[in-house]
Amino acid sequence: MSIETVDTLVVGAGQAGVAMSEHLGKLGVPHLVLERNRIAERWRTGRWDSLVANGPAWHDRFPGMEFDDLDPDAFASKERVADYFEAYAKKFRAPIRTGVEVTRVTRNSGRGGFTVETNSGVIEASRVVVATGPFQRPVIPPIAPKSDRFVQIHSADYRNPEQLPDGAVLVVGAGSSGVQIAEELMRAGKRVYLSVGPHDRPPRTYRNRDFCWWLGVLGLWDTETVVPGREHVTIAVSGARGGHTVNFRKLAHQGMTLVGLTKAFANDVVTFEADLETNLANGDANYLSLLDAADAYIARNGLDLPEEPAAREIVPDPDCVAHPLIELDLAAAGVTSIVWATGYANDYGWLQVNAFDDKGKPKHQRGVSAEPGVYFVGLPWLSRRGSSFIWGVWHDAKHVAGHIATQSSYLEYRDAAQRKAEAHLASTGYANVDSQIQNTNALGVI
Ligand SMILES: Cc1cc2nc3c(=O)[nH]c(=O)nc-3n(C[C@H](O)[C@H](O)[C@H](O)COP(=O)(O)OP(=O)(O)OC[C@H]3O[C@@H](n4cnc5c(N)ncnc54)[C@H](O)[C@@H]3O)c2cc1C
Repeated sequence: MSIETVDTLVVGAGQAGVAMSEHLGKLGVPHLVLERNRIAERWRTGRWDSLVANGPAWHDRFPGMEFDDLDPDAFASKERVADYFEAYAKKFRAPIRTGVEVTRVTRNSGRGGFTVETNSGVIEASRVVVATGPFQRPVIPPIAPKSDRFVQIHSADYRNPEQLPDGAVLVVGAGSSGVQIAEELMRAGKRVYLSVGPHDRPPRTYRNRDFCWWLGVLGLWDTETVVPGREHVTIAVSGARGGHTVNFRKLAHQGMTLVGLTKAFANDVVTFEADLETNLANGDANYLSLLDAADAYIARNGLDLPEEPAAREIVPDPDCVAHPLIELDLAAAGVTSIVWATGYANDYGWLQVNAFDDKGKPKHQRGVSAEPGVYFVGLPWLSRRGSSFIWGVWHDAKHVAGHIATQSSYLEYRDAAQRKAEAHLASTGYANVDSQIQNTNALGVI
């Protein structure tokens, strides 16, 4: 039985896989993308109904195509983002095969390349690019109560307020997902407790520019390493209802109860860290530091952008901040559900190669992994802060594709004897010589 061979196999056709395919195609690298569902499936079905992009349409896109039906300052709906990537892939005829799941990848022994097992057969590939996403397996921390008195869901499974039973909700985690879900639930009439940990909260806009613009001109999207100790600091932004700055105190004045980090559950009583005030103060400091950096940039470059002193006004502490709850009896408070907006973990059980450290994290340099021939794209901080975001993954994919093309060109080298033999074969009119050479390359030494 003949086995399908391919030079470079890309696993996953979200934005990372699509970007990868574009760059590989431009460099003439033969490749195939396998996607277990549909193109950009996570944008289509893996997120809540009302989600819109966190960045405006002019920013959250690839360089090669605009959202031509949207105002550049609008925030694309999740469906529109999925349609965008589908249209993008179509535009350059990306070789994407959907409905095919990669179940196992192993390095070949005694010959180059990898054996890739899928739910529809085996493929041999010289290289494998892992584009399976930065957010693979929803994580609910072990402190979650075992009690079945509450409906508990991860933010990945949240769709809309109607999905939850009547009663109050505890939302754990106040990054972009947690705060957006909490606000939606409050606006739907629910009593909401929001557990707020360390966060950054950039202004949605300042002096007529979106924060995406500010992070760009200030070089902050390009920051290459996480400041030690800030690995778990989440970013709270929202493009909902036209976009607005996340302002926790304002949400509390509108009726939400803010609490500190969720510490433990015992007999349906939840306890919180006494860190709410500190977390809010650090979030404010981060917010104000961006305003300062923006003002300095405007002054340095002599830009004519209107001043905005009101942006520096911090809303007075609401009661829940002045007198924070340290514990809450969930039953007495009428809490019937808990939404865990607590992030994701990796899931690389199928990738059985030597590309991971002892904690199971991919070992790589700008996506070029420790296992020769294996590459990663789309991971947070792959090369910089912007790496897991739409515009960032495009640039990382370009670098990874360039590395693959360079490696391929090494394998194309022929010594004098080989060149002579090939010339001889060509002169005798052996028509298939090129394809024979290419097939050798396709599973060449890596
Ligand atoms: C709630 C939320 C909102 C976000 N909003 C924004 C935003 O507004 N702007 C922004 O820039 N970023 C945003 N992000 C971050 C990032 O852009 C998205 O997470 C994006 O989906 C990542 O794209 P990706 O291609 O890297 O991964 P994914 O979109 O996760 O795509 C990976 C693909 O791989 C497939 N796959 C996985 N395993 C296999 C396998 N074994 N075989 C075959 N196929 C497989 C999956 O089906 C999936 O389609 C958001 C993230 C979240 C969670």
